[in-house]
Amino acid sequence: MNTDAQTLIACPSCDLLFEVGDLQDGETARCSRCDAFLTTYRANALSRVTAFAASALILLVLACSFPFMSFKASGIESVMTLPGTALALWHDGMPDLALVVAAFIVVVPAGVLVMLLLLASSMKLKRGIALLKPLGRLIFTLQNWSMVEVFFIGVLVSLVKIAKMATIVIGISFWAYAAFSILFLLSVTSLDRFQCWRRIEALAKS
Ligand SMILES: [Zn+2]
Repeated sequence: MNTDAQTLIACPSCDLLFEVGDLQDGETARCSRCDAFLTTYRANALSRVTAFAASALILLVLACSFPFMSFKASGIESVMTLPGTALALWHDGMPDLALVVAAFIVVVPAGVLVMLLLLASSMKLKRGIALLKPLGRLIFTLQNWSMVEVFFIGVLVSLVKIAKMATIVIGISFWAYAAFSILFLLSVTSLDRFQCWRRIEALAKS
């Protein structure tokens, strides 16, 4: 077996080692033992990452700028915005929770998207190669700490409960955040871990 680290991949599910050669565009490698996904190669992966990440960032800015939703109950109306949710926690004497919420639903995802754009453009232009390794490591670590979809599911669950007590008007920001969640997932999943590190290694050697 060729022991070049560049071509070896361990199955994330059963740890079996594989030697993965050059894949064709759109080709996917799977584990022969447990059928787990190993890696996929797309010739236009960097363009996809750039397009998805840029669109997601624009939608996140929109989501932070408009009302998320408003509630009407017994004549009183209150409008909720995305930054307002964290601010409300801060004013209610829970600054630590406010920081965690802001980090998980806005700051970390925005940071990951900016870093994805940097990584993709740096790989395309073959500039700033020295930054690629720390950038790649940070992106794959922080991915686990963005709770975009968890937050959105939480919102949907609480909507069902609040709907019984108040009239809810869904704002522009709600739809923007919903679209942002999908684009965020697409931009993160468009960057294949194995192919990304393989490319970084090749660029570092060249
Ligand atoms: Zn396996």
